[in-house]
Amino acid sequence: MSTSTLPALATRMAGVTSSPVRDLLALTTRPGVISFAGGLPAPELFDTDGLRAAFDRVLSGPSARRNLQYSPTEGDPGLRELLAARLTGRGLPTEPDGVLVTTGSQQALTLVAATLLDPGSVVLVEEPAYLSALQCFQLAGARVLPVPCDDDGIDPAALAELVVRARPRLLYLVPTFSNPTGRTLPAPRRRAVAELAAQHGFWIVEDDPYGELRYRGAPLTPISALPEAEGRSLYLGSFSKIVAPGMRLGWLRAPRPAVGRLTVAKQAADLHTSTVDQAAAAEYLRGADLEGHLRGLCGAYRLRRDAMLAALPSATPTGTRWTDPDGGMFVWLRLPGDADATRLLPLALRRDVAFVPGAPFYVEAPDPATLRLSFTTHTPEEITEGLRRLGRVLT
Ligand code: PMP
Repeated sequence: MSTSTLPALATRMAGVTSSPVRDLLALTTRPGVISFAGGLPAPELFDTDGLRAAFDRVLSGPSARRNLQYSPTEGDPGLRELLAARLTGRGLPTEPDGVLVTTGSQQALTLVAATLLDPGSVVLVEEPAYLSALQCFQLAGARVLPVPCDDDGIDPAALAELVVRARPRLLYLVPTFSNPTGRTLPAPRRRAVAELAAQHGFWIVEDDPYGELRYRGAPLTPISALPEAEGRSLYLGSFSKIVAPGMRLGWLRAPRPAVGRLTVAKQAADLHTSTVDQAAAAEYLRGADLEGHLRGLCGAYRLRRDAMLAALPSATPTGTRWTDPDGGMFVWLRLPGDADATRLLPLALRRDVAFVPGAPFYVEAPDPATLRLSFTTHTPEEITEGLRRLGRVLT
């Protein structure tokens, strides 16, 4: 049905388009396609036995009925305690009442936009940036501006200049193994970002769904753990990439007064995140070996990343550049000259291989020669074959 036959829609929907990544996912599930498109975790690595046992325990015995009941908006108290302890263990000191459980970290982004932004508020983002965060900010009527970036992420000198000119309400970034580029913001730049936030009084929204998927090097201190960020940072985490995205479980660490306001926004959004899923997640954190599971996951993903990086030189034309991520799920490519990845995609699909063109990840002036490849959902052998197919399109 054409929207012209509908009664009026909200004006704020006008500039917000459907995520091409989600639209593309439909095409790439065709049998035989080797897809580097979706940012999906590998399903064969889900800990189905551990999760089945956790769900079984929370649906047995006297607590089963409580676990199927409505529950507090802030989240299951036991889960908040476990999440706070995990964050504290990762160098981010957190009290349970500084954590809000969310329905995926995507909901945290929606709540952040609803709570912090007015129509016209300026939001600064990396360029390129995570698409569905852009959707949240655009839906809130914000003015989204890109911060110039290089191979290490946000350029602090450019940020310093932009904050004076644009007076942002918040800066959104994925500083560790970013989506879509895979790059990581080095420690001195993290400090510079936190100092600028303190100096100019804007919020830092640090989105970190990939930080625990590290395949080389030592972990970096989260921006939110730096003293300059205290009281002005929101840190987002998720079960999606480390356990399973279908559980739709995320969390938001925020200064306590902000947790109160975000909780009001969450009441309006969904009352609370699924009680039974939260109970099972808490049970899983208590009883299963998540650290062991993470080691297995990182071991498998490291081999997949290495297979992709090894195959790229022969699959791409001379002059192609790509990132070499220390973790996460993505490699970001730039083809030489005036290549157009969007035009190349149908040719790739005809050869049963898929990727995501880079253009939609840009707020302004897209670079059509860029594309994103995800290395997590195929074996090293399939990745090699997929890049052989892609090579026939690119070279
Ligand atoms: N932030 C980033 C950077 C992401 O890549 C994703 C998922 N692709 C999300 C947030 C949302 O994740 P979820 O809602 O599954 O936690």
